[in-house]
Amino acid sequence: ISEVILSGGDPLMLSDETLAELVSGIEKISHVRRIRIHSRLPVVIPQRLTQKLQDILSQSNCQTSLVLHTNHGNELTPEHKERLLNLRNSGVTLLNQSVLLKGVNDDLSILTELSEKLFTMGVLPYYLHLADKVIGAHHFMVSDTEAAALYLQVRERLPGYLVPQLVREIPGEPYKQPYPVMA
Ligand SMILES: *Cc1c(COP(=O)(O)O)cnc(C)c1O
Repeated sequence: ISEVILSGGDPLMLSDETLAELVSGIEKISHVRRIRIHSRLPVVIPQRLTQKLQDILSQSNCQTSLVLHTNHGNELTPEHKERLLNLRNSGVTLLNQSVLLKGVNDDLSILTELSEKLFTMGVLPYYLHLADKVIGAHHFMVSDTEAAALYLQVRERLPGYLVPQLVREIPGEPYKQPYPVMA
């Protein structure tokens, strides 16, 4: 095990003090070289990106990264930009994952603007998820064929490093499955 991920629920619901204890405990494990946090909290409360959190992550003797869960560029404000760029400049790798949601971001300009806006804030797009088939979310589902067609257009429009990987979770599989889009 070379990487430890603090993931959902939402690890940034913890206080910075508790996170500092967790991180320093993890750092003591000699074979762990990377610590990653997955969180949506900074998207809805940019003030959660505190100076203390920045210090914990940037001063760690592990490589640290933060994966945000942003679905639309309108979620990102000047407050995000300032705090994210500080975090990035302190040496923390910033990535983003989104879920493809019907009526929210299943649109070429919305997806390209999201990637471009993230990059102005020091964040690289990582994953674009096909939604899980869960009860109550049917109205957000984008069909596989629609998703594939949209993704092809995104690839045509953006440089490769701003194109997130299109993936889906298959229950029981150990990692996210790339959704094959040819051409
Ligand atoms: C996918 C995912 C992970 C694991 O990320 P990988 O980069 O695929 O190893 C951890 N937490 C959450 C919430 C995820 O969606």
